[in-house]
Amino acid sequence: MIAQFAQDTGWIEVICGSMYSGKTEELIRRLKRALYGQQRVQVFKPQIDNRYDELAVVSHSQLKISATSVQHALQILQAVEADTKVVGIDEVQFFGMELVSVVQVLASRGLRVICAGLDQDYQGKPFEPMPHLLAIAELITKELAICVVCGNPANRSQRLTHSEERVVVGAAGAYEARCRKCHVATPVAATPGQEIDLFNH
Ligand code: ADP
Ligand code: ZN
Repeated sequence: MIAQFAQDTGWIEVICGSMYSGKTEELIRRLKRALYGQQRVQVFKPQIDNRYDELAVVSHSQLKISATSVQHALQILQAVEADTKVVGIDEVQFFGMELVSVVQVLASRGLRVICAGLDQDYQGKPFEPMPHLLAIAELITKELAICVVCGNPANRSQRLTHSEERVVVGAAGAYEARCRKCHVATPVAATPGQEIDLFNH
């Protein structure tokens, strides 16, 4: 299928799902395709998320694209340059509701805005600003991970560390993907993993 994009208006795309569902991979894929199309792209991520790299958005599978880290959503508005056509924003759950008006302004100016982030917190509750972004977006994609307990499609992020914070920063080892049946709202011990050698199958 050839995606039909509008030519003379901005719009909002949202990529949501649990941890490990492939949100960042999909964001990077769309941004790279825009770059192949000679469009000026700018990518933003929250400064709080310094898990891998301050200057790039990095997926769990090590795909990468250069990015600017910002502390507040309003800084995105200030940083977007006049010739930019596409804006990508990762980990939107760290920006709070301020992001909603920022994204609206950018789309009204004629930009394509692609937002990626969690739609539920570790208890399975809707996680702002994602519900708002889903409501105002032209195009929404929900990714699913694989439940590490039973192998079903997973749309929940199981917390593994004890914390009352809504988001545990430095998430490596702090979450695993689980389905509705296997997820519990309280932290549990990590599911033992398999050694996977993708090149020997
Ligand atoms: P997200 O941004 O949604 O957290 P990423 O795009 O960073 O996800 O990473 C997705 C990649 O994570 C997958 O392509 C796969 O290589 C890896 N991965 C690790 N654990 C899982 C899992 N339980 N289900 C699916 N993918 C997983
Ligand atoms: Zn399961």
